[in-house]
Amino acid sequence: MRKKTAKYSKLLSDLLKRSDNIILVCHQNPDGDAIGSMLGFARYLVNQGKSPVMISPDQIQEFLRWMKNSDSIIINENEPGRAVKSIKEADLIVMLDFNHVDRSGRLKDHILASDARKILIDHHPDPYFDVDLLISEPEFSSTAEIVFSLVRDIEGEYYLDPEFIEAVYVGIMTDTGNFSYGTFNGNTLREVAIMLDKGLDKDLIASRVYDNFSIDRLRLQGFASCERLIYLEEARTAYIYLTRADLDRFKHKTGDTEGFVNIPLSVKGIIVSALFIEKENHIKISFRSKGDFNINTFAAEYFNGGGHKNAAGGKYNGTMKECLEYFEKLITGSSLLRK
Ligand code: 5GP
Ligand code: MN
Repeated sequence: MRKKTAKYSKLLSDLLKRSDNIILVCHQNPDGDAIGSMLGFARYLVNQGKSPVMISPDQIQEFLRWMKNSDSIIINENEPGRAVKSIKEADLIVMLDFNHVDRSGRLKDHILASDARKILIDHHPDPYFDVDLLISEPEFSSTAEIVFSLVRDIEGEYYLDPEFIEAVYVGIMTDTGNFSYGTFNGNTLREVAIMLDKGLDKDLIASRVYDNFSIDRLRLQGFASCERLIYLEEARTAYIYLTRADLDRFKHKTGDTEGFVNIPLSVKGIIVSALFIEKENHIKISFRSKGDFNINTFAAEYFNGGGHKNAAGGKYNGTMKECLEYFEKLITGSSLLRK
């Protein structure tokens, strides 16, 4: 069964054709899907004779920096003037992998103030955005898969440029945890099969993404599982917390804690897992759940966040101690989690 993106293709290709200054923007703390979908779409546009400008609100994680052209993404945190100037000159802004303008961080006000036409391409549920073309498909594995499908619709056949395929594959692979969770299905795998037939080197890409960390990161992971893992058996929950001092001790770099939130899920019976990271003036949280427990709603209601049904994130303004007490109270009070 083919998932339908064809309904967007006429308007999408019209908007692309009519635009000369196209800006692509991804979400804060961009993950493999944010960067993969942005690089993939940019590659397609370049091949169409366009000169898209890519902007990320903040740093690109170490494990994605090998990706072709990732060094040409403007990092707003480093070069705010350049990013804002590009947005001001844009006649089309394409936003990828987020469902609320808040997720673009400090770019938000500039995006809202811009007269450019706007397109949102995303797979998170409940988009809340005023745009000219809303491409919201929550049943897709990743935004990258939507991009692959949209380009196929426009081109009338699979678009098999190697750099395009590599970028979208990174998005699909990372958002499904190397094809172990998330909303991928037979259609996703059929698309991946076509990429493999075309010569995509899946082992090399997996190795670049998953075997690309420092020894300090591996030690931090061991420390986190051993010393900073709290197991709430009754509530079928386990979480990891890491303070600034913990991160400093293991010479933490951006991206080092990526994936840590999945560690507690390997314990039998666990339904909810969380990762709390102490930032300069808030606590950043990642959540995961299994089955029917909707962690997206939980993150939105109590931690000013959002995401997907089984993978979401949020923030807490306060100390780590206050945050953990608040979380434990909420989660132990949740009747859904008792055996
Ligand atoms: P992760 O835990 O891997 O950073 O994020 C899991 C999912 O939750 C992703 O789809 C991500 O976009 C979303 N997410 C993470 N943090 C936030 C947040 O602060 N607000 C919202 N709305 N979504 C978030
Ligand atoms: Mn995604």
